[in-house]
Amino acid sequence: MSPAGDRPAEGGSRSDRARPPRRGRPFVLNVRSLRARPGTRQEVNLEGTLPGMFVSSARVPDDAAVRFDGYVESTLGGVTVAGEVTAPWTGVCRRCLEEASGELVAQVRELCRDPREAAGEEDEPYPVGHDELDLQPIVRDACILELPLAPLCSDSCLGLCPTCGANRNRDECSCDVSTDPRWSALAGLGPEAAEPSEPTEQEAE
Ligand SMILES: [Zn+2]
Ligand SMILES: [Zn+2]
Repeated sequence: MSPAGDRPAEGGSRSDRARPPRRGRPFVLNVRSLRARPGTRQEVNLEGTLPGMFVSSARVPDDAAVRFDGYVESTLGGVTVAGEVTAPWTGVCRRCLEEASGELVAQVRELCRDPREAAGEEDEPYPVGHDELDLQPIVRDACILELPLAPLCSDSCLGLCPTCGANRNRDECSCDVSTDPRWSALAGLGPEAAEPSEPTEQEAE
């Protein structure tokens, strides 16, 4: 996998090209003037890396570009953040155990508030300061919630042969599960005894 930023510039100087991910705190906004005028809305397009986002089955690569596209709006109680978070992910296909990848898209809408005003409340809101709003916790939570728990390399992945373990996307094995004597011997024992030890697809979903 090669992030888009590594590709050489095609035409134009480097400074003409889209801004590279900002180092350090790519999801921090200055909201001082926005907060001074409740009701104001500002379009926001941010991109940066957020290392360390993963679940057991998939992750956003540490060097991948994570995007937020949406707006922030000043309200009397704080700042509303609304938009779309997108990021590439990689993981292990639950059927064939090869690498799987895709893009996650998460819709977010959160009211961020001054932590001092929300002190003692049961549901702690995302914080916003007088001058700064860091969208990182919102973007991070959205990505982690959206990562696939049971990834597939493709909807049509054929998985592994239960008898010989061949990857049926690549190799045609000669096994015929329906007439395999090891399976027919179990046929009369009821569904529990015949159940394979591997989790079925339904369970994984
Ligand atoms: Zn697969
Ligand atoms: Zn086989």
